[in-house]
Amino acid sequence: MSAYIVFFGPPGCGKGTQASKVKDELGLAQISTGELFRKHLSQETPLGLEAQKYMSKGALVPDEITIGMVRERLQEPDARQGAIFDGFPRTGAQAKALDQLLGELGAELCMVVDFKLPMEESRRRLMGRQEGRADDRPEVIEKRLNDHADVEASVMPHYRARLGLIKEVDAHGTIDEIYQTVLALVKTCLG
Ligand code: ADP
Repeated sequence: MSAYIVFFGPPGCGKGTQASKVKDELGLAQISTGELFRKHLSQETPLGLEAQKYMSKGALVPDEITIGMVRERLQEPDARQGAIFDGFPRTGAQAKALDQLLGELGAELCMVVDFKLPMEESRRRLMGRQEGRADDRPEVIEKRLNDHADVEASVMPHYRARLGLIKEVDAHGTIDEIYQTVLALVKTCLG
């Protein structure tokens, strides 16, 4: 059985941290579109340079580019047993494309983990983040935070119709507390 799971939530909610821990423990692939774009950029690939135009403004990279990159990433061997999608999908078109991509692999989405965190707390965390990301400037942070409501409105209706698919997780609390909850949820997808 394969476990394909979306981690959804506002910037700063900790979904990337949790996805990375799950990857290490359960051996599922972590497919983080933000990380993939940053990797492309550090290698100065054409895709990375194109994506940078959008990322530096806190805007979404166009669907065609993003979906193409995820399609390729899903071909890699570590994604065969399942993957945690972190930061993807962020539009309705991406959500539809993900269903299609998984269908091509003979798989389907098992779960959407919806990390809940109020905007003030997201802002506080992002403002304090010391990773030195180029898009962690205050005005870009503000745009990413404000756009999240739109992202949620485009993506979540796609999943609400599927009974029981969405699992809400309170993203307050320590990394380890949240991890215990997340891990238990993800394990239910492993059968
Ligand atoms: P955060 O969630 O902290 O804002 P991410 O690392 O997930 O950061 O994403 C950083 C940037 O990469 C986004 O602001 C956007 O420009 C781009 N990006 C990431 N994922 C997507 C996606 N699924 N669709 C379009 N653009 C994306």
